[in-house]
Amino acid sequence: MWGAICGYDKRPETEQKHIANAFLLACLLDYRRRDKIDDPWNAVYKFFENGPEFRDDLWRKIYETPEEEWRSDFAFRRHKLHRERPPHNRLWPIAEAITYWFDGDARLIWKDKDAFSTLARLHWIGAGEQISRMIVGALKDCGYVKGKGDPKADVRICRVIGRSILGEAIPTSRPFSAIRICREIHPDDPWELDGPLWLLGEKTCTSIAPDCDRCYLRERCAYFQKNRTM
Ligand code: SF4
Repeated sequence: MWGAICGYDKRPETEQKHIANAFLLACLLDYRRRDKIDDPWNAVYKFFENGPEFRDDLWRKIYETPEEEWRSDFAFRRHKLHRERPPHNRLWPIAEAITYWFDGDARLIWKDKDAFSTLARLHWIGAGEQISRMIVGALKDCGYVKGKGDPKADVRICRVIGRSILGEAIPTSRPFSAIRICREIHPDDPWELDGPLWLLGEKTCTSIAPDCDRCYLRERCAYFQKNRTM
């Protein structure tokens, strides 16, 4: 997903707003594995194909759709942005905030802002705490904002950090416990732990059967040490 936003400012001005808005929409959808369509860009670009009126002024067009209409069965089925209703419905108040405060242009959320200010703005428009962290991280990776960031403490990162440091996975209901540990491990920029931890949680430290024999954290992992001596 980062591929689309990195370098968008080198594209013609007429495309930049569209790309930034599409990137933000794809992030807000926050697909999980069970959503089957694991690339939210597919859903976003099908959405634009089916509704070309949204392409150039996405947030304003959503906001101009009466809220009841946006929340209707018809709109949910027509736009096919998400398999569940709440992620679809919540786009309307977010569109309202982006239209009112940022002129419908996602770029203005992060333009000339540091990571912390961008995080606060995303959180404030209703993007959600962990999704906001992910968006800030993507913008940092692409060089659009500077400063420290936190990882998006999803189920994988809570699992790997919890097992390796505490000996058991941290419940996703307590994401800040994982974030706090990441801040202690890598205070310069905890966001830099996001990618490696996510990969470990996806490929090696899986929920059912962690493959500790292939894990580079093994010798320092509290979960591995605890279970080895049992
Ligand atoms: S050693 Fe095992 S439990 Fe620990 S982080 Fe690696 S895979 Fe997970």
